[in-house]
Amino acid sequence: MSKVFVLDANKQPLNPVHPGRARLLLRAGEAALYRRYPFTLILRRALPKAALVPLRLKIDPGAQTTGLALVNDATGVVVWAAELSHRGFAVKGSLDERRAVRRSRRRRHTRYRPSRWANRRRERGWLPPSLASRMANVLTWASRLMRLCPLGAISLELVKFDLQALQNPEVAGVAYQQGELMGYELREYLLEKWQRRCMYCGKTGVPLQIEHIVPRAKGGTDRASNLTLACEECNRAKGNQDVGEYLANKPEVLTRLLAQAKAPLRNAAAVNSTRWKLFERLKATGLPLEMGSGGLTKYNRTKRNLPKTHWLDAVCVGRSTPEHLATSSVVPLLIKATGHGTRQMCGVKDGFPIRHRKRQKVHHGFQTGDLTRAVVPAGKKAGTYVGRVLARARGSFDLITRAGRIEGVSARYCKPIHRNDGYTYQIGAPFAFV
Ligand SMILES: [Zn+2]
Repeated sequence: MSKVFVLDANKQPLNPVHPGRARLLLRAGEAALYRRYPFTLILRRALPKAALVPLRLKIDPGAQTTGLALVNDATGVVVWAAELSHRGFAVKGSLDERRAVRRSRRRRHTRYRPSRWANRRRERGWLPPSLASRMANVLTWASRLMRLCPLGAISLELVKFDLQALQNPEVAGVAYQQGELMGYELREYLLEKWQRRCMYCGKTGVPLQIEHIVPRAKGGTDRASNLTLACEECNRAKGNQDVGEYLANKPEVLTRLLAQAKAPLRNAAAVNSTRWKLFERLKATGLPLEMGSGGLTKYNRTKRNLPKTHWLDAVCVGRSTPEHLATSSVVPLLIKATGHGTRQMCGVKDGFPIRHRKRQKVHHGFQTGDLTRAVVPAGKKAGTYVGRVLARARGSFDLITRAGRIEGVSARYCKPIHRNDGYTYQIGAPFAFV
């Protein structure tokens, strides 16, 4: 069951409670709603001596979606889970648009404007804006959760495969020596090395099989440098032939394959620089930080018979994952990053200015993007609406609801539900796996 966060009167985080208990607290007037997403209560009294059970925040960073989970290590209970969707191409899109606007300004027949390109410097550790946005999203949520519940540790999936464990399985632990976990790390390694495609025909998005370059029957070894990936068709067609025989009439494929097989992946860490940046920033929180690999996550998830979702991957990150996980009826919160609107002060159409924005963003106590409930008592638009508000200075708001846009709702009929914080929220499907 996804639990409800509770703060005491001094905003100190307490242990999350069952939704039923939260309902009782609200009904008895002992607590009030503090935040809608994630659902958080604030108690009317302070509890400075409450016994706190530290939770572990587990993070599985992804390019499009990052899984987040809070797990009680002692009991294996998944307290809360979320899937955070990043802005991805939206960031790149708006930067491209800005570049186009600046370029067209220089090309117009106005006074001479020197092009400015050599007057900026990238600071050390610069990340492309779309990646920086992804990292900022994860850090925002880590710090939000730190304020809402007692956190004792963080687990982060840092790399896709554990190169060190692949090289020295003897020192990496029992599960590696027995070979099963090793298989998962190896598979992730090969997928990365061969770009998730069949090495013979180049097909992607099909199930891939691990394939010996020099077949076992001809003395080939099981070492990673002798392995590649092939689709079922090519694997069967190649059979027991040597790679030289099989690719006899495709010399360019053969050369590429042999060159790529010899080149080791320079460094597992270099595969994903964003994750390392994230690691450094999370380390600065001072909480003990555990690193996991993608191979280990997959191994943990498969062993516990859990389906593949982003939040369940997060639950399975790292060696600290409890043997028995209580995941039933956890409802993940689906969080989508939307950004904080635009900084453009002048709206244009066909290159001509059509409107100007004011510096002021808050009108009648509302800001564009606030989740709002409007109860219109009478008139053509009588009814109750819930949606994102478009706030205007003259007090006539628009509401963007699921059913469509409701225009011209007076500010005095509106009540805020959740202030715009750069994200939209949706409750996911309850997880009914036993
Ligand atoms: Zn193939």
